[in-house]
Amino acid sequence: MIPSSSGGEAAAGWKHSLRQAWRDPVALLSAIGLETLAGSLDRASPFPFLVTREFAARMQPGNPRDPLLRQVLPTLTERRQVEGFGADPVGDQASRRNPAMLHKYHGRVLLITTAACPIHCRYCFRRDYDYASDRLSQGRLEHIRDSIAADPSIAEVILSGGDPLTLGDQRLRRITDILRPIPHIRRLRIHSRMPVTLPSRIDAGLIDWLASLPWQQVMVIHANHAREFDREVAESLDRLRRAGVWVFNQAVLLAGVNDQEDALVELMETSFAHGAAPYYLHLLDRVAGSAEFEVDAARARELLCAMRVRLPGFLVPRLVREQAGAAYKVPLL
Ligand SMILES: *Cc1c(COP(=O)(O)O)cnc(C)c1O
Ligand code: SF4
Repeated sequence: MIPSSSGGEAAAGWKHSLRQAWRDPVALLSAIGLETLAGSLDRASPFPFLVTREFAARMQPGNPRDPLLRQVLPTLTERRQVEGFGADPVGDQASRRNPAMLHKYHGRVLLITTAACPIHCRYCFRRDYDYASDRLSQGRLEHIRDSIAADPSIAEVILSGGDPLTLGDQRLRRITDILRPIPHIRRLRIHSRMPVTLPSRIDAGLIDWLASLPWQQVMVIHANHAREFDREVAESLDRLRRAGVWVFNQAVLLAGVNDQEDALVELMETSFAHGAAPYYLHLLDRVAGSAEFEVDAARARELLCAMRVRLPGFLVPRLVREQAGAAYKVPLL
């Protein structure tokens, strides 16, 4: 195999930025003038604090209810045991045919490429996922290739995680090289928060890799609030779109972050203005520790109706809930 030469120096840029991410919540709080919140922190959470400098720079100093800060700050309220909130709310364990691969829906398989993320979102449904036993090793990758090759119904491979773009270009190439000979794959989809949390990840090396692939490509990013977008994010999405990648945004409906009509309308308008069309608006998956973010279904439907009144049809997201055992993500309205 010819080693990729496009990684190297170029890749060092984003890797360096990733290493600079905030890992001490108290340090971030003092940088944004919110030391007073330190008392509410859960310092011993097994899902540690992590946020990139780039994302944190979009927080409003002095605002204890900042919607970006709220998504990442580990607080003691996460320890509350709430009925109905558990470890595997979406039934992922049941759809693991292969380690590191989920085959839940017709025609699509989802690969757990890595456990790493550039940011730890407190409401994440994968926060308790058993990644250690589910890593995408070379042996497992060969196994996955064989089972995709044996099932002609699979037209789409989704790289997920964690965040697949925390992997270097060479690692990504190894994954797609092994899948390349399978004739029935039509699309590669990437689920990543990187264009939003670390826009420099969408660099020339990554674009070279995408350009080398034989399939249509889809990137589904994840932003929950209009203020997550800025000029750098727009530029990263522009690089993807110019490379022919279809870009969509999925969001989670989160209390205290985006559960207001204006915030949602602004999110949909802003994400489109920056190059990502709205895809899903998810109801929270009821993972243990995330109860404070829940918005009930009735309120969610109300918000969707309000968006329909104010937005063109193509900016209205599909409001869905994941139901264990269902054949698709179930629309609420
Ligand atoms: C969400 C998800 C998909 C993709 O579903 P779409 O409705 O096509 O976006 C595929 N596999 C798994 C396991 C999922 O959770
Ligand atoms: S998988 Fe996505 S939602 Fe979960 S912590 Fe990582 S970036 Fe956040």
